[in-house]
Amino acid sequence: MSRPSDAVTPAQPVAWPGKFRSAAVLTFDLDAEAAVLSMDPASAGRMSVMSHQAYGPLVGVPRLLRILAARSVRATFFVPGYTAERYPSVVHAIADAGHEIAHHGYRHESMLGRSAEEEAAIIDRGLAAFDRIGLARPAGYRAPLWELNYHTPGLLAERGFRYDSSLMDADVPYPLTPGLVEVPVHWGLDDWEQYAYLPGITGSGVIESPGKVREMWTDEFTAMHEEGGCFVLTCHPFLSGRPSRARALAGLIDTMTATEGVWLTTMAEIADHVAGLRLAPRRIEVPEP
Ligand SMILES: [Zn+2]
Repeated sequence: MSRPSDAVTPAQPVAWPGKFRSAAVLTFDLDAEAAVLSMDPASAGRMSVMSHQAYGPLVGVPRLLRILAARSVRATFFVPGYTAERYPSVVHAIADAGHEIAHHGYRHESMLGRSAEEEAAIIDRGLAAFDRIGLARPAGYRAPLWELNYHTPGLLAERGFRYDSSLMDADVPYPLTPGLVEVPVHWGLDDWEQYAYLPGITGSGVIESPGKVREMWTDEFTAMHEEGGCFVLTCHPFLSGRPSRARALAGLIDTMTATEGVWLTTMAEIADHVAGLRLAPRRIEVPEP
């Protein structure tokens, strides 16, 4: 009698191009006001809260762009449509500096519990915002709050997206659905858990030291490199754009660029490489509740 197969099967190892032993990508989610407005629309009237979020595009982005340019490193910026429309010159400055701009919802809406129709309408609204300000059609998508539904990959593939970056079940990218690669993430490599502090809105109430954060992320980078995986860091300019945090991030980038055999590039390049490997698709069944 043959044994039944597992409901979920693991991603296959990835061979990186040339002599590269691992891949790494710096991602920045330019949530700005949208992240807070989606949680509580009434916060639009809170000038101080809005200013906390506006720091990202106003001060964080220029500082981070200087840090990246000084090291000749390209990154991927996930931008909600609402942010693109509110700060078109900032988003164009990012694109003009050679970085990738990808999709991150419209008003950073949680997709939790949404029907495919509702979710499709939000994704299309984000795409329309990109069109409106004259941005190229994005290759990639990251769900706000990393909240993907089982119907989301199909919606993305239908719209010509080549990758998503919202799931957590592997150390390497993998084919998620025909035409769409998943580049996995993790909460441990997200600056929100380290630095976010908006009383009554979000955050743990603890603001971590950039030194601790740098050590934690460097440990994960080093181990991921040894494992031949794909290190995906997620930062928010309103958080990691603050001076000592940006400085700590610059230190981490220096470690990454000094490590031999790391393919430090954009999400789209990593996803396109993995798509070209023609790996067997994974089996991912929806669990019985
Ligand atoms: Zn976000």
